[in-house]
Amino acid sequence: MVQTMSEVGPTFEGAGGDALPETVAALERLSWNYWWSWNPDGSSVFRDLDQEVWDECEHNPRRLLRVISQNSLMRMATDPVYIERVSRLAASFDAYMTAGAQVWAAAHAREITREHPVAYFCAEFGVHHSLPLYSGGLGILAGDHLKSASDLGLPLVAVGLLYHQGYFRQRLRRDGWQEETYNTIDVADLPLQLVRGDDGEPVHIELEMRGRVVRVRAWRVEIGRVPLYLLDTNVEGNDEIDRMISGHLYGGDRETRCVQEMVLGLGGVRLLRRLRLEPHVFHLNEGHSAFLTLELARERTERGENFEEAARVVRSRCAFTTHTPVAAGHDEFVAPLIERCFGEVYWQQLGLTREEFLNLGRVKEDDESELFGLTPLALRMCRSSNGVSRKHGEVSRELWNKMWPTRHVDEVPITSVTNGVHAPTWVSPLLRALYEERVGMDWTRVLYDAAAWSAAVELIPDEELWKVRRLMKKRLVAFVRERVYGARLQQHEPLAYAESARSVLDAGALTIGFARRVAAYKRWGLLLTDAERLRRLIMDAERPMQFVFAGKAHPQDQGAKLILQQMALWELDPEVTRRAVFLQDYDQEVARQLVQSVDVWLNVPRRPLEASGTSGEKVALNGGLNLSVLDGWWLEGYDGRNGWAAGEESLGETTEESDARDADSLYRLLESEVVPAFYERDEAGLPHRWVALMRHAIQTLAPAFNSDRMVREYTERVYLGNQ
Ligand SMILES: *Cc1c(COP(=O)(O)O)cnc(C)c1O
Repeated sequence: MVQTMSEVGPTFEGAGGDALPETVAALERLSWNYWWSWNPDGSSVFRDLDQEVWDECEHNPRRLLRVISQNSLMRMATDPVYIERVSRLAASFDAYMTAGAQVWAAAHAREITREHPVAYFCAEFGVHHSLPLYSGGLGILAGDHLKSASDLGLPLVAVGLLYHQGYFRQRLRRDGWQEETYNTIDVADLPLQLVRGDDGEPVHIELEMRGRVVRVRAWRVEIGRVPLYLLDTNVEGNDEIDRMISGHLYGGDRETRCVQEMVLGLGGVRLLRRLRLEPHVFHLNEGHSAFLTLELARERTERGENFEEAARVVRSRCAFTTHTPVAAGHDEFVAPLIERCFGEVYWQQLGLTREEFLNLGRVKEDDESELFGLTPLALRMCRSSNGVSRKHGEVSRELWNKMWPTRHVDEVPITSVTNGVHAPTWVSPLLRALYEERVGMDWTRVLYDAAAWSAAVELIPDEELWKVRRLMKKRLVAFVRERVYGARLQQHEPLAYAESARSVLDAGALTIGFARRVAAYKRWGLLLTDAERLRRLIMDAERPMQFVFAGKAHPQDQGAKLILQQMALWELDPEVTRRAVFLQDYDQEVARQLVQSVDVWLNVPRRPLEASGTSGEKVALNGGLNLSVLDGWWLEGYDGRNGWAAGEESLGETTEESDARDADSLYRLLESEVVPAFYERDEAGLPHRWVALMRHAIQTLAPAFNSDRMVREYTERVYLGNQ
């Protein structure tokens, strides 16, 4: 039997190599499972050991326990209040890990078991910002999926890749140009356990790629009850180039991408076999893992089945989720690259000719002009395919109708499951406490029942909701000031200018958040279409508006970097600079700060290119209001009273015309709806109309757009196959 180090019991070497004092010994156990990150007292228990070191460690408890001073540790280990908090946290962790029959899946997904779990494959996982294996929405969504699967008790194992350099860290130069840096992760400082065999030796999977044998090891990370296996080629004895496969997330060339995806797909299946797992279903979360279908077929053809028979069985086991209608999101490779990476032995083992093999990745068979696409491969080899919102399902059916040319577009077999976010991860601690008090300790479960949730939220007094918002905004302003101050120091700005960061933003002003990848279709520039009109809104003496921006541009996307620079330079305009701030290095932590605190979340993608979007869902859960183009999830969420819809239903004749119309609609909404509602106050300073919108947003959006709902829907409709 393959075992992991957790079963052997990892040994503690923190605080100078000593074991933790017995009163707080449970911290060791807690630090090995990311469950702490979504428990209400989880991060504060670690933080309170030593706030400064905690921040320096970027909120990584493993590292904290290694580097914390004996003095800080002993101070807390002899503090009875602290000791009690650790005990309580450990007790709830143990109860969580051993909860058996009362979990949702025990009653609703009996066919899915530990031996026959869901195998969830993804190229990135955003579990926590201390584990930087994600670039954006896809990874965060995958992380939320694992957490909800864990909460629901759904037997699921996840498979991904370990990237030693992770995704890039963003720094803006003084002239606003983005620079990228990469930090190498320290495996020894993360809760990663090498997967070992019966003999205690690390398990190695072997793959043949580019004509060489590559050895792959695997690390296990605990996400509550869900294990995440991360494949890693940085193994001694491998060719240097092969060791680099586990280097950067989305940083390499086409060939690197292809072999990364082979490691994920082929290596992932081989690993699961070594773990003696026969998954009930393989979930391909985006096409990056589509090669796994080939490996599953190869297992059968090697045993004598022909490819057609094998493919039929594979299809009955695999489900595919597509995540974007944007072409760049669909990986494709030229035929010679595929041939070089796989080698002819691979298709011979499948019982296929070269052409037959290449056809698996083409929309039209024998069309040699086509590249080998992972989306066509996945659509062909999976029994079910879905987009991530109703609209995206529809768009995907149109986009991929070409795979089924004889069918009407409505008959294209692509459905949809709308994305959701993990409520305990994204809700602010303060609002969570209010939900616990007013809805109940089981508020995440009450969310399953929209009517019960709505009734409970109805009873929260306006003052209490507003108080949370006011405090959260103060917190955001403090956070922003510190970040901006730090960034200015780092850019070697004059000290007086750096210190003026302490007066940016105003906790009383209407605050608008805009944070997302800098990609053309997200239309970062839309807001600046009429700079004068925008300036009037920002500089209004009585009713000012302020902006917080964040987002990364893809390192190779010069156009996106220019957009970012334009934005950065605009906010340096002395008039604007105190009312508009760009936060560098957007990641899960920055996202959390923003979504928990801003009044309005702005989203203006070019329709219909936003497959779902999830950041606005996080905002809604926190009582923020969405002002968004009707696309993705917002088309389903918006009901006329829980936020605003920017832009018109119909598109303009040209892109420019649509952009101009949407910009005008955006300004009009801000001027005539958003600002008046926010600043309308009673004698006590309460904005009742605004709070009514907030409340209605929480009531209508939180039950529909959380990831428990999403995972339950995947389970019922996709994993159990009742589509
Ligand atoms: C939620 C989240 C996203 C997804 O945001 P959308 O713009 O809505 O797709 C991206 N990055 C981070 C860090 C997030 O937390």
